[in-house]
Amino acid sequence: MKALCIFSGGLDSLISTIILRNQGIDVQAVFFETPFFRSENARISAERIGIPFISVDITARHFKMLENPPHGYGANMNPCIDCHALMFKIAGEMLSEGRASFIATGEVLGQRPFSQNKRAMAIVAKESGIADLILRPLSARLLSPSLPEREGWVTREALLGLQGRSRKPQIRLAKDLGITEYETPAGGCLLTEKTFSRRLKDLMLLKRKPIDPNQIELLRTGRHFRLSPEAKAVVGRNLYDNEKIVALADKEDIIMNVEFFPGPTTLVSGEPEAKDIITAASMTLSYSDAAVGTVASVAVNGGRRPGSITATALPIDSFRHLMI
Ligand code: SF4
Repeated sequence: MKALCIFSGGLDSLISTIILRNQGIDVQAVFFETPFFRSENARISAERIGIPFISVDITARHFKMLENPPHGYGANMNPCIDCHALMFKIAGEMLSEGRASFIATGEVLGQRPFSQNKRAMAIVAKESGIADLILRPLSARLLSPSLPEREGWVTREALLGLQGRSRKPQIRLAKDLGITEYETPAGGCLLTEKTFSRRLKDLMLLKRKPIDPNQIELLRTGRHFRLSPEAKAVVGRNLYDNEKIVALADKEDIIMNVEFFPGPTTLVSGEPEAKDIITAASMTLSYSDAAVGTVASVAVNGGRRPGSITATALPIDSFRHLMI
């Protein structure tokens, strides 16, 4: 009997996987990857316990859902109910390809108020189209028996009845099961981060083109400023940011650098007016090593008028109101 375990690499999915493996189930860990949540840590976790691991890129379908999630967002830009529903739906498609007999997860009833309550779990199960084939080993004893339990593929009595936000039972179990290393709970999803979510919301409100993975990567880089409804600037904080900004720039974007002081690389995207270019040049100089009041030249590459602009370094607080 084979199960596909939707696997985050966190403690709950590790325990869930081991519980099933201890019942003689052949477990395949599957990670659904997008630019918001990457598979590296999950892969390492799976390797540690010797479980076969695959990562499936769901970026295109996830972006589409993210633009208008039917069940809304959580505290930030995390559409957890619809994200889960999508993952289960794709896992269900994998079942119909004959890759396993049922799906398992590490979900714990009541652990996350938005997405792991009975109502949310029922929505996800219904929308996935495979409700009866979803097994949640950590909370199974509190839920209606699923097909794998009713059919005796797994022993319900050997599953758990955990609920709530406390992690203590899982930490105790980890010890009993010999799990010594694991990731922090729910770590790693950018959509749960406040600053990232604010920047993503801004991008989604104003971007005319579909979002692409490069733009998501750029949201993680540097300081972001809204210059106007049509234009935005990203100012590097260090050499790493500066190099990344250049690598991620679109061919229509403008790149700025201060000519005679060490300083940031700035990317201007959208449709900046002349005043936006001047603001961005001043920002670039203000975040450089030049003292406040310095007048210096800022190189402008790309855009309609490449060349250089004379700018004045201002106190960086002058740009705070533009920060995203
Ligand atoms: S935390 Fe992120 S990856 Fe997890 S369900 Fe929510 S949106 Fe999806």
